[in-house]
Amino acid sequence: MKALTSELPQKTKAAVLMKPMQVAMEERALAGLGPHDVLVKVMAVGVCGSDVHYYEHGRIGRKAVENPLIQGHECAGLVVQAGAEVTQVKIGDRVAIEPGMSCFRCEYCKAGKYNLCPSVRFLSSPPVDGAFAEYIVHPDHLLFPIPDHLSYEEATLVEPLSVGIHACRRAGLEAGSTVLIAGMGPVGLTAIIAARALGAENIAVTDVEPFRLGLAAEMGAKLCVNVLERDTAEAIAQWTGGRGVDMVIDTSGHAGVIDSSIEWLKRGGKLVLIGFPAAEKVPLNLTLLLQKEIAMYGTFRYTNTYPLGIELLASGRFDTKKLITDFYSLEDTALALERARTNKKGSMKVIVYPNGKPSND
Ligand SMILES: [Zn+2]
Ligand SMILES: [Zn+2]
Repeated sequence: MKALTSELPQKTKAAVLMKPMQVAMEERALAGLGPHDVLVKVMAVGVCGSDVHYYEHGRIGRKAVENPLIQGHECAGLVVQAGAEVTQVKIGDRVAIEPGMSCFRCEYCKAGKYNLCPSVRFLSSPPVDGAFAEYIVHPDHLLFPIPDHLSYEEATLVEPLSVGIHACRRAGLEAGSTVLIAGMGPVGLTAIIAARALGAENIAVTDVEPFRLGLAAEMGAKLCVNVLERDTAEAIAQWTGGRGVDMVIDTSGHAGVIDSSIEWLKRGGKLVLIGFPAAEKVPLNLTLLLQKEIAMYGTFRYTNTYPLGIELLASGRFDTKKLITDFYSLEDTALALERARTNKKGSMKVIVYPNGKPSND
């Protein structure tokens, strides 16, 4: 076994969700390293909407937090120790961490759809512990070195950006398409980057928060519709000369938005679903969907997106620092979750630093 220093940690401090709205600091033993495992010093973790949802409600749909859970899956860190057969990264590498540990043996994994693996273990998805911890042990093939000029904070954005990349790829987004992206949370905002990277420059967005719509314009959205002030159908009709958009990507999960998307799309358009609706069943105008021959794509997480995600964030083409608004220590993880939960008007990505805030910025 190779190591960065002679004194390696046996334990890690972690922020643990004990029950809804209650987070406690605990010391946890670190698992020993298998031959392909890597010990990563976690340097930055983004708070995800799903973290906030589990924190607030203790469950998402049928998935519940039954035992104390370490949250956090949007993470980046430093490789400090590597198992005997690790070849993909080396000690001292700064890495983005892909959170989904699929089996890579089942039908879905073999077909390249490892996001659908029935036995996937995904950081912070109960009962699997996540990354609000000083250290985690993670398989080497899910670690992706990042260039020196890309900060750990920005590298955490590869995770939400991956969702948009996967959605655009899965639905076959073509260069030159007109795209409407509904919901300007971190996934919606980074989906603008994904769509632009794949060649769509005419991007419209919707939200209710002026702060979020302003960020969307900075990411390159050409039409930003505040749905409290303007009718989306009318705005889209005007913007596309009555034709409708080629693709709608919904990140809001809002039932009314999903249904209305069928009207906003051109004939033969594509409806791409990312956001989870509050209720499992959503009424849709299927008659119109059939008449317009709309294709609907359910999407879930992502596959093979990290190399492109890192390249896009490192390119300097998008001012993604603007998406990162709040910073907390590991001890203040509860405050970070609370901030993300309550400050929709002024916070976007909230970052937790499990090993303290870096001094260089
Ligand atoms: Zn996430
Ligand atoms: Zn599998």
